[in-house]
Amino acid sequence: MTYSSSRQCGEPTCQFPGCNDPTYYNSYDGKCYCPKHYESLLFGELTNLHRQWQPAGDLPDRFKYWLARLGDEGFFPNFKENSFRKTKVGGNRTRNFKKTTNGCTFEITRHPGAIPYEPYLGQATVQTWEVDILLKQFNLISERDKVDSDPDPET
Ligand SMILES: [Zn+2]
Repeated sequence: MTYSSSRQCGEPTCQFPGCNDPTYYNSYDGKCYCPKHYESLLFGELTNLHRQWQPAGDLPDRFKYWLARLGDEGFFPNFKENSFRKTKVGGNRTRNFKKTTNGCTFEITRHPGAIPYEPYLGQATVQTWEVDILLKQFNLISERDKVDSDPDPET
């Protein structure tokens, strides 16, 4: 299994058996798929990682990557609405991932009104989010002011 970070793909029609829909250049594991099969394969990857996650165990390698990638590619409709980015969710800013029945919860330190390369304005907060893989939603479940002991990595 190889993971392609690129969506570029040269095949005009879907390589899923029995499907000949246009691919729109969606690439997964070195093959080209139509949007419907592309989405279902990506969610299949995330669902498998979720299934392998022991409830009391550590976050599986790559779960964060796939969550961030699916969000970034628009498959969680309210991901970008909430100013999430692939690097923020897939990087060190997110922590304390816990498995739930249909997804997970995690924490993130946020800086409202942050401007790149400028000092942060306003009160930073720590938010807890719940992700539902089935409903394809990120839901804010709590928010509090950041305190000094909260991690605040740059990326
Ligand atoms: Zn297809």
